[in-house]
Amino acid sequence: MLDVLIRMANVNGAIVDIAVNDGVIVDIDNKIYGDAKVVFDAKKRITIPGFVDCHTHLDKCLLNEQQPYQEGTGPQKGALTYEMKKNFTVEDITIRAEKMINRAIKAGTLHWRTNVDVDGSVGLKGIEALLKLKKKYEKLIHIQVAAFAQEGVFWDGQTEVLLEQALKMGADLVGGHTIAKGEGEKHIDFILDLAKKYGVEADFHLDESGNREHYLLPYLTKKIVENNLQGKVNGIHLCTLSALNPEELEDAMKYIQEAQLSVTVAPTAISTRNIAPVKRVLKTGVPVGLASDNMRDFFNPLGSGDVKQVALLLSYLQRFFLQEEVEQVFRMITDGGAQVLSVKDYGIRIGSAADITVLDALSVNEVIAYQSQPVLSVRAGTVVE
Ligand SMILES: [Zn+2]
Repeated sequence: MLDVLIRMANVNGAIVDIAVNDGVIVDIDNKIYGDAKVVFDAKKRITIPGFVDCHTHLDKCLLNEQQPYQEGTGPQKGALTYEMKKNFTVEDITIRAEKMINRAIKAGTLHWRTNVDVDGSVGLKGIEALLKLKKKYEKLIHIQVAAFAQEGVFWDGQTEVLLEQALKMGADLVGGHTIAKGEGEKHIDFILDLAKKYGVEADFHLDESGNREHYLLPYLTKKIVENNLQGKVNGIHLCTLSALNPEELEDAMKYIQEAQLSVTVAPTAISTRNIAPVKRVLKTGVPVGLASDNMRDFFNPLGSGDVKQVALLLSYLQRFFLQEEVEQVFRMITDGGAQVLSVKDYGIRIGSAADITVLDALSVNEVIAYQSQPVLSVRAGTVVE
């Protein structure tokens, strides 16, 4: 007897039955005969492995539960967060992050990358908490942990060493922030060297301010090529693209292609600056994903841990309304995001891990418009209650 049999699922437009046994998809066909412990009629609803949310800060989520949101400039918000970070404990980080992880699981997220601050103020507390949560929830959601130099690398005499320790503890990758403390090129060099040394990918908050004086994309992409790291680096935000003239923008697109820099867009950044021109970036063919980024903290007092929310936001901001554009947005929170995160076996295929999410929607348009929630989630072959 099969473990799970899903009937009439809409997988990429084809209506199929899906059979699951021992945590693996064992059959996909127009009609599968046989019995199963759990039989579910998907009624032609949209069926995906699960959503992909390419970037967040789980260690700093829900700070508004402790201190109300207040208006201010980016640096002021950063300073407020930094003060709170000094008092973080592993337990406090765990409680806040766990709440959001459970929200994301309910919303159908399967892959989530979080940057986790590492520096002298918070030490490795965030890494410790998130590595434990990654393990605890591994059957329900795949969390990637990036050891992140939010405040810069060279300013406190500790971050350089702590980043290496975080990677030795098991962090999946290293994260940089190109405009932090004006470190610029030196910062980029350090983070790329660390990625090479430990054989991990790198992730940069890139040109986040949107200002012309913060335009390090040309340098980063040049260094990626020099170091043979094509396809191994992700850029988050790239807000300065929105400040370039048309010729400069075309040059930037060439640099992105040459470096095979994947791109993550966090549309909630619109609250303080312009976001990258996503339709143009998609034309480069590099992987492009979407992200929740900050959730209920000083940078974003809203944010739910449901990546469909930012898909809807992007759709309005840059008018992704035509059918092929709606499909592009849907891809950014599914297959495209999986490429950004270098997920190897994303897809509903025979032999793949049985991670299956049936959404309460008959089309991808409904998923975005109605913010459709899962009616069935199977994770590693087991139905999630
Ligand atoms: Zn971020």
